[in-house]
Amino acid sequence: MTTDSDCLFCKIIKGEIPSDQVYSDEQVIVFKDINPKAPVHLLIVPREHIKSLNELEEKHDVLMAYIMRLLPKIAKEQGLNNGFRTVINTGPGGGQEVFHLHVHLLGGERLSGAGFVM
Ligand code: AMP
Ligand code: ZN
Repeated sequence: MTTDSDCLFCKIIKGEIPSDQVYSDEQVIVFKDINPKAPVHLLIVPREHIKSLNELEEKHDVLMAYIMRLLPKIAKEQGLNNGFRTVINTGPGGGQEVFHLHVHLLGGERLSGAGFVM
């Protein structure tokens, strides 16, 4: 599996940097965002080092579908029974700061419909 020794999230995956982990399996890890923008703010991170949506290839289709189906399960586990928001920032123009693909999962309060919290 591709990893990048200079990547913050690869270091978290390898346990070199601590994180507040809430879920982990062979494909992904899920941990709390260090700077939460909502009462629940988690990052769903594939173990494979993929920089962003721009670098996705056909071989990642199963992984990405897996992540999409995992999101509502994690949300439910966190008590987000009334809904949640997902955000994927892509590239500098999209506000991406950590260049290892991740999905933000936010909730725990009523998020405004058209607003962007990230
Ligand atoms: P993005 O702007 O989409 O790349 O999001 C990166 C996110 O990673 C931000 O919301 C940061 O608060 C979060 N973050 C940065 N460092 C850490 C860390 N060590 N542990 C958990 N979250 C982090
Ligand atoms: Zn990485």
